Amino acid sequence: MRRSIGYRCAMSSGRFCYLCGAVTEELFHGLCSPCFLGEKELASIPPRISVSLCRGCFRYYSSGSWVDGGESLTGFVETVGRKEALSHVSKELKDPSVDVEIKDIKEKGKGLSVELELRVSGTTSGLEYRQTLNTVLQIKNVTCPDCSRRSGGYYEAIVQLRSEHLDDTVTKFHEQIGRLYARDKQAFIVGETLVKGGVDFKLGSAKAAKTVATYFKSHYKAVIKETASLVGRKEGNDIYRITVLIRI
Ligand SMILES: [Zn+2]
Ligand SMILES: [Zn+2]
Repeated sequence: MRRSIGYRCAMSSGRFCYLCGAVTEELFHGLCSPCFLGEKELASIPPRISVSLCRGCFRYYSSGSWVDGGESLTGFVETVGRKEALSHVSKELKDPSVDVEIKDIKEKGKGLSVELELRVSGTTSGLEYRQTLNTVLQIKNVTCPDCSRRSGGYYEAIVQLRSEHLDDTVTKFHEQIGRLYARDKQAFIVGETLVKGGVDFKLGSAKAAKTVATYFKSHYKAVIKETASLVGRKEGNDIYRITVLIRI
């Protein structure tokens, strides 16, 4: 009996997808590319994500620390959505990227409820892969420890700024504190008093007081004097408050 060699030759480059039976040039684990991609769930996201956002400094709480939430609410929502989606993406997905679309924003209790659509894309086994995810980001308005210290008038240092060109010096001082605050939310000013020959500032961070003194020393040849005084004890440790005199 003649074998159907001719048939095999005609179809030599074609192979069958075991799922849909389609004839294809290339199989991926026995499947045609639509079936192969259709079988895959390379991205996932929980239906709800809760996040605490400090409305004082616009930082949010993530894995044990307060992280900068950016400049705007939209930017913040996009950053969190993208980060969450990427943290749930399978290693099989290469070069993953996420487009975030805000579907709806509602006020809810002491915060906001934001509906998000996340479009994940990348490649797997050399094929383009896309998947759409939906989640609700629940933003809870909170006050972070630094902002609550600030509103409570907490300070670790008094800076005595003395200068013959007080206006300029005070402007520079505010500039430097602003720069430090961008990185350290305890570098805030809770008091500013005009005194003879200068201004006294109460600063939330002793470290910031020292840094700003170093700045004036190196840029304006200021004379610096630092003293510390015991103001109390907490959990068995002495609490000091420093006074930094900056004379230009
Ligand atoms: Zn198929
Ligand atoms: Zn804050």
